[in-house]
Amino acid sequence: MTREQRLEAIQRRPEVCVLIVGGGINGAGLLRELALQEVDALLVEKSDFASGASSASTRIIHGGLRYLENGEFRLVRESLRERNRLLKNAPHYVRPLPTTIPIFSWTKGLFSAPARFLGLNVRPSDRGTLLIKIGLTLYDLLAGKQAGLPAHRFKSRHASLAARPQLPPEIVCTATYYDASISYPERLCLELVQDAERQSSTAQALNYVRVESAHGDTVVLEDVIAGQKLRIKPRTVVNATGAWIDFTNRALGRQSQYIGGTKGSHLVLEQPELLAATKGQMLYFANADGRICIFYPYYGKVIAGSTDIPVSDPETAVCGEDEVDYILESVAQVFPAIPRLRDLSNIVYRFCGVRPLPRSDASTPGEISRDHSCEVIPAGNGIHFPVYSLVGGKWTTFRAFAEQVADRILRHLARRRLASSADLPIGGGKAYPTTAAAKSVWLAALNEKTRLPVERLGILLDRYGTRAEEVAQFLSAGLDQPLRSQPEYTRREIQFMASRECIVRLDDLILRRTIMALLGQLSLELVEELATLLAAELAWSQDRMQQEIARTVELLSTVHGIRLR
Ligand SMILES: Cc1cc2nc3c(=O)[nH]c(=O)nc-3n(C[C@H](O)[C@H](O)[C@H](O)COP(=O)(O)OP(=O)(O)OC[C@H]3O[C@@H](n4cnc5c(N)ncnc54)[C@H](O)[C@@H]3O)c2cc1C
Repeated sequence: MTREQRLEAIQRRPEVCVLIVGGGINGAGLLRELALQEVDALLVEKSDFASGASSASTRIIHGGLRYLENGEFRLVRESLRERNRLLKNAPHYVRPLPTTIPIFSWTKGLFSAPARFLGLNVRPSDRGTLLIKIGLTLYDLLAGKQAGLPAHRFKSRHASLAARPQLPPEIVCTATYYDASISYPERLCLELVQDAERQSSTAQALNYVRVESAHGDTVVLEDVIAGQKLRIKPRTVVNATGAWIDFTNRALGRQSQYIGGTKGSHLVLEQPELLAATKGQMLYFANADGRICIFYPYYGKVIAGSTDIPVSDPETAVCGEDEVDYILESVAQVFPAIPRLRDLSNIVYRFCGVRPLPRSDASTPGEISRDHSCEVIPAGNGIHFPVYSLVGGKWTTFRAFAEQVADRILRHLARRRLASSADLPIGGGKAYPTTAAAKSVWLAALNEKTRLPVERLGILLDRYGTRAEEVAQFLSAGLDQPLRSQPEYTRREIQFMASRECIVRLDDLILRRTIMALLGQLSLELVEELATLLAAELAWSQDRMQQEIARTVELLSTVHGIRLR
């Protein structure tokens, strides 16, 4: 069905068991969870799927080593379990990431960490070797053996400096442990939505539809593109709008003060010496203010971040110049021997998002728990349905959070759980060849079928997981050509995404279906070429196409620091 046909169908049958508002990772995870239980559910997202915090994260799937200091063992155990599951269920995008901590003292933090653990209001400080040894030993114990990741190890000062002479000579040693990174979080979020729709004919999701208001048993939605209103009658509403939760509850006729969001910014840097010094690992370190900063390699660039600054309105959060200075300064402190690390011309992209943290009176934002909770406002005040708000959480723990919320909803609906998502592969993670040998066999078989070069198929496998088979078959079914201004993609590949991946606006393609913007690959010519392809595929008028180009150019400049030429 086209978007218009879907909207009409919803209007014809407005009753729905669960309305999920918000198409970030928490909304998408819940939609899949409910689809598995055959509960009919409609998800609406005011912008594009994963356009909020879910596309602005550090892209680390992790247990949260730092949370051990706060005594959050349950959260760390749950996160590590979910990390291990994602490594298994989404191996196409979630991969092990060795992480090295440069350490500057033997004993620092030995007082402040236990004091924070005991609940005293003490600012986090630099962490020394002893404290990190205790933390990493616990971390390995809590992680268990499921993911087969190596245990942590320490390297002497001498060996650390021999391996990375760019480190400050004042280090006393380094420690290396394992977490994971996610290459395409935006696509994984979309895959969850599409898996849900494939799983159950009563699971539906629409981007560019927002909740406007509510009265009695009715929620008024607005199709943001056409301006048309829809009225639906849900039995339950789930507010999964992250940093917008309190705003959405207000629109739903309810009052809440659940969220105390903090914005976090990242930079994508192009600096070959920095990239080489990472040696394929993440560098994890505490700044003078106790805040953890990281940087790691990403497709030939380096992602560095992040900041943690309280904000009240998620709509206006962008990466400020002060944050740029802070991040560049932090990176330069780790590798003082690398010249020009503070140079602004190294930045190819910047992004910012707002963490939907619970409202808190902690002395620093870093101390606010990254745990999740589901807050329920029962029916009342003239509104006939309860509203479940999904507060906090991390990308890593979305499945566990969705499972817990689904169980509450099932209890409310007096229904039984039918299936578990614990071992369910996501999207192109299904039957993914994980070893080099299995990959060669898989690629050779697809080369037989499609005649596309193995090298090209390898790129598709990295981008789409095993869905690369569907993509490759589509590409080989017609005349294809590399894009004029970005030959790493072809015209039919863009057509494939346009016709099957819920693309509504030009920036959906540029910012979330692909990583072109993130990698600094954009030019005005490329944006125009992509817009022309989408216009043909989505039947845009000349006017609409020009509006999309202008909007994207503006967005890239004001939000992502990219001036297109
Ligand atoms: C800087 C930063 C770094 C992070 N790093 C990590 C990390 O490395 N690892 C990790 O595990 N987690 C990380 N996180 C946390 C993680 O990204 C978030 O917890 C998670 O993405 C929250 O998902 P969500 O679905 O709740 O919110 P969001 O992704 O923000 O989704 C909410 C959606 O609701 C939509 N919406 C709002 N109002 C309406 C309305 N009226 N109608 C319809 N839709 C609406 C918004 O457009 C938005 O898309 C990080 C977060 C940030 C900000």
